[in-house]
Amino acid sequence: MRIDIISLFPEFVAQVAGHGVVGRARERGLLSLHGWNPRDHAEGNYRRVDDRPFGGGPGMVMMIDPLRACIAAARAAEPAPARVIYLSPQGRPFTQAKARELAGESRLVLLCGRYEGVDERLLAAEVDEEISIGDYVLSGGELAAAVVVDAVARLQEGALNDAESAVQDSFEGDGLLDCPHYTRPLEHPLGDVPTVLLSGNHAEIARWRRKQALGRTWLRRPDLLDREHLSVADRALLEE
Ligand code: SAM
Repeated sequence: MRIDIISLFPEFVAQVAGHGVVGRARERGLLSLHGWNPRDHAEGNYRRVDDRPFGGGPGMVMMIDPLRACIAAARAAEPAPARVIYLSPQGRPFTQAKARELAGESRLVLLCGRYEGVDERLLAAEVDEEISIGDYVLSGGELAAAVVVDAVARLQEGALNDAESAVQDSFEGDGLLDCPHYTRPLEHPLGDVPTVLLSGNHAEIARWRRKQALGRTWLRRPDLLDREHLSVADRALLEE
């Protein structure tokens, strides 16, 4: 998969999203990241990429032409076509389901805004979709782009050493939160490990994990729990 990042700080995204699983995905040739700086496509001595908003008011707005040139350059790379995504607090919320969907693409172009945002005409003409990473405002799209790169990279086949681990994560499968996890040491002043995890009884361990996942989803994120469609066995676990 190839991801192009259009940003005033493209190297920042690659750096933030360059470690651990994402770094490994890149080393394994599963993902390549390419940065494009609109300043390199801006005209004049000052290579200006922003200007004051029409109608007045605070802040600056990113100009059409430097961004358009960047998008055209990114689009020209192979394999075509590329899906162009603008990171924006006004976009659709980024979810695990969206990460899975994007992970299936061979190309993405991520456009990072700064200042008050981007000239609306550029967005209307060039952007396929807008994605938000949450209901808060960042000063730039770079951290949001890094979030998307990370979530999408770890879903590339072969990126995780154990593909099962992604399947068991929160929001995957039937959308529950993950169960709690424990590791050595067995005995610790902070508490004991649930004995069922030491039993070697795989059916009992699976049952315990399912019950934990259901219980903590119910407590922490009841909005994720589709009680109507729970199986009879899940209902019984939840009511135990
Ligand atoms: N004036 C814009 C608004 O209120 O919708 C906010 C502009 S923000 C200061 C600058 C840039 O940060 C945006 O163009 C966008 O690329 C990025 N950004 C800010 N918050 C974001 C979020 N929650 N998700 C994704 N990108 C975000």
